[in-house]
Order: sequence, then structure tokens, then C-alpha cells
Amino acid sequence: MLRITIDGPAGAGKSTVARELAQILGYTYLDTGAMYRTLALAALREGISADDEPNLATLLSHLDLRFERGRIRLGDEDVADELRAPAVDRIVSRVAAHPRVRAAFVSRQRELAQGGGVVVDGRDAGTVVLPDAECKFFLTASLDARAARRHREMRSQGVRASIDDVRREMAERDSLDEMRAVGALRVPDAALVVDTTGLGVAQVVAELAAACRAKGA
Ligand code: C5P
Repeated sequence: MLRITIDGPAGAGKSTVARELAQILGYTYLDTGAMYRTLALAALREGISADDEPNLATLLSHLDLRFERGRIRLGDEDVADELRAPAVDRIVSRVAAHPRVRAAFVSRQRELAQGGGVVVDGRDAGTVVLPDAECKFFLTASLDARAARRHREMRSQGVRASIDDVRREMAERDSLDEMRAVGALRVPDAALVVDTTGLGVAQVVAELAAACRAKGA
């Protein structure tokens, strides 16, 4: 049972591809972005600032975060849809930049990935969480293609936003993710880089599945 990591910027198609790849291989999908989003949502509800590292670390230590059948729960509450809200998008990268927050989540992610048979998607999955993973991917796409995808996804959830705002916020989030001191977004050593601009989900999943099977998945 291999460990597979998929990193890349926002809107590159990671979560859709990771979920389908996990299904094809019979592996578990671990959405690490959902963890940072859950903390951001809890901070919004508690009125804790995205810049307040000590209180975020305390909040995280009490966070009752559960994965059940591919949906994320905060205690008994299914928060999967709320995690994609624009208010969460706006602060999540600031929340995720704090070293104490990252250290706590990285150790939980390593525990969850123990034993293999996992597809882990994120920003630092192949660099920090599982640097010795057997199969590493980096998905990317042009900013326009990524913003268009995110815009479509938001519209399908009934969230109204202009494509220009989506593009600008996405670029801001990417630059925060790339510039931070710990767990910055970069291409992991030995990762296969796939540019998904103009490619359908099925094509990308097939390419990744073939690469994983070649390594024994
Ligand atoms: O993947 P997703 O867009 O849901 O991630 C939301 C945010 O969470 C990212 O923009 C990034 O700031 C943060 N994140 C992270 N490290 C990860 C996964 C997500 O910092 N492994």
C-alpha cells in the first residue's frame, strides 16, 4: 500500500483528482486543506483573529475534527459545505501560515497516513508531511483556468462572486502559500508535474493512476 501525495496551487484540480484516484486504487483520501479550513471556520465562529497564533493553537488543540466517509465533521456537525465559503477562503492561508498550527496538523496527518494506502492532497504533502512517499505529484494550471474552475464550483453551490474577485483572491492565497516560512508551496523532489490547463479530470486521473500502478499501487 503506497503513500501518494498531490500538491499544487488552489484550483489546480487536486481534490477532485485525489478523490477519484483514491477510489480507483481503493485507497483513503486525506484532504489536508479541509483541516486548515476547519480551523479557519472555528476561528471565525469564536471571533479569533487569523493572526492570533497562540489562541489558534489552543483552539486547534480542542478541535474535535473527524473524517467520516469522505466528509469532514466538527464534532457531530457536517461542515464540509461551509468550509468552501468565501469567508473561509479569505483567511485560511493566514491561519495556515503559523508554525504552531502547521506542526500540529502535520503530526495528525502523518498519523492518519501511517500504514499507507492513502492519497494525501495539500501544499506540503510531498515536501513536509510525507517526504519519502512512494508517489508524488504536483498539479498546476494557468491562473485563468484555475480561477474559472473555482468560479464554476462556487456558482454551482449558489455562491455569487465575480471572476475577477475570484482570480485576485486566488492569486493572493497562492502568494501567501508560496512565501510563508514553514511548509511553503513548492514542487517536491522527484514529483511528477502535471499541467492540467485544458485537461479533463478523467485524463489527469488516468495519467496519475498509470504512474502509481507503475510503482506497484
Ligand atoms: O486545498 P485547499 O484550497 O482546500 O486549501 C486551503 C488553504 O489551506 C490553502 O490555500 C493553504 O493556505 C492551506 N493549506 C496548507 N497546507 C496544506 C493544505 C492547505 O497550508 N497541506
